[in-house]
Amino acid sequence: MKDNILKRLENLEKAVSFDMVSGIGFDSHRFNPAKKDIILGGVKIPYHKGIDSHSDGDALYHALTDAIFGAAALNDIGDYFPDSDPSHKNLDSSIFLLAALRMAEKENIFLTSIDIIIILEKPSLSPFKQAIKENIARLCGLDLKNVGLKAKTNESLGFIGRGEGLAVIVSVLGKRMRRAAIS
Ligand code: MG
Repeated sequence: MKDNILKRLENLEKAVSFDMVSGIGFDSHRFNPAKKDIILGGVKIPYHKGIDSHSDGDALYHALTDAIFGAAALNDIGDYFPDSDPSHKNLDSSIFLLAALRMAEKENIFLTSIDIIIILEKPSLSPFKQAIKENIARLCGLDLKNVGLKAKTNESLGFIGRGEGLAVIVSVLGKRMRRAAIS
């Protein structure tokens, strides 16, 4: 009886144990003067230039999607959602993010926190940061306190400094739950 209980406790412990995993993602996009407004984290930011992209050009969703794939040791966003696929034209990039979350869950990966850096010279993201964080937290099923977001300029250096484009870096932490049958 005692052995049986100990065995069950051991199995239960295995079932709820996990490994920590991490992933990083990066994306950059060029501005297109023929377009208007920027979309970052699903939030539309009014601007006199838009983003040059096959999809909606949401570099934050693209970098976050790659970070999630990284945490799950999967391939990169271009392997699963190639630019050459006409069905991705002007696509809402939350589709990529939600697909990545589902694919990671199949690998028993569950996100615990996200940290984001957006690098662009203009416009200022201050009025939009809270909305972006809330959107990311909602889509990823995280508490707002587990989503970090910083926006910074590139001090006038390089393509970002010249206002030619923007870049996003994302880091994620998660748990890989260990599978074990509870008997
Ligand atoms: Mg991209």
